[in-house]
Amino acid sequence: MLVVMKANSSEDQIQRVVDKIVELGFKPLPVPGANRTAICITGNKGAVDEVIFLRMPGVKEVVRVTKPYKMVSREVKDEDTVVDIDGIKVGGKGEPLVIAGPCSVEDEKTTLSVAQALKDLGIKCFRAGAFKPRTSPYDFQGLGLEGLKILKKVNQETGLKIITEVMDTENVEVVAEHVDILQVGTRNMQNFSLLRKLSRIDKPIVLKRGMSATLTEWLNAAEYLLMGGNHNVILCERGIRTFSQHTRNTLDLNIIPVVKDISHLPIIVDPSHGIGRRDYVRPMARAALACGVHGLIIEAHTTPDLAVSDQAQTVPIETVKGILEDIKIISKLPQVQNIN
Ligand code: PEP
Ligand code: MN
Repeated sequence: MLVVMKANSSEDQIQRVVDKIVELGFKPLPVPGANRTAICITGNKGAVDEVIFLRMPGVKEVVRVTKPYKMVSREVKDEDTVVDIDGIKVGGKGEPLVIAGPCSVEDEKTTLSVAQALKDLGIKCFRAGAFKPRTSPYDFQGLGLEGLKILKKVNQETGLKIITEVMDTENVEVVAEHVDILQVGTRNMQNFSLLRKLSRIDKPIVLKRGMSATLTEWLNAAEYLLMGGNHNVILCERGIRTFSQHTRNTLDLNIIPVVKDISHLPIIVDPSHGIGRRDYVRPMARAALACGVHGLIIEAHTTPDLAVSDQAQTVPIETVKGILEDIKIISKLPQVQNIN
């Protein structure tokens, strides 16, 4: 249940509602928003008597939340969440953000040169994995801490914001110290201990959809992050498993309009893992843009054939340039701007 306060309600009136929720044995969770003050009641097994709140001064209305998740739902917060990465905005009606970079952090020289080439195109956010979740234990597992240090250097030398995957709870602090955005990979979407820990840090999170996760499971995973106090969450569709064998995964673009309809969180698309072949990445990036996504995350390299992981889906720098040109056209279309 959600208690919505009147626009002119006082701090004292808001505090009294919070105290009442606690007194009743529930947990109040404030919902941040520019247009209204609202407090979500959580921890209740059944219906709470709404009259208790309707009688209190400063309360405008009490809204029943019908979805299993609350904080991520538009029922609780109607306006789009815009995640701010030190001035770079993701979400709402702004231009989609393109995040690009190699699958893995490689040696310092290569990583810096890929980052510089992307920066020269106008890219503002760089991706590369230091901790790699690999299907085979014999495959390259990432450079770990050394990789994080290289990423920090990329940030210092180029000013690019950095996103990297965090795989384990014990690495949350060290990863957060080195980069600007933390990625939860598809295999960890329901690692609830990891989500709980990330909910308490002050850095944006990109939450990839589990490869077999339903929409409800995905949004509930995001709910863990918001419930713990981290509201800077970006959802990322990266392809799911289906019976189709012709591409690595099936990029589920169906989910884009659905998520935009029921959640206020920004949603980006990873066409690289979604389709798995470099020559198909740009068409799927275009399709995602036409669906009104808030951003793309793309695996790119100056010498894709020499990339240490995911070569087959890693595009050359020219393809990123082409996608940036596509954005200028597609995201300006009124039909796209008016989605949701
Ligand atoms: C990645 O971004 O390199 C990655 C491993 O992604 P996913 O979790 O979507 O497989
Ligand atoms: Mn990859």
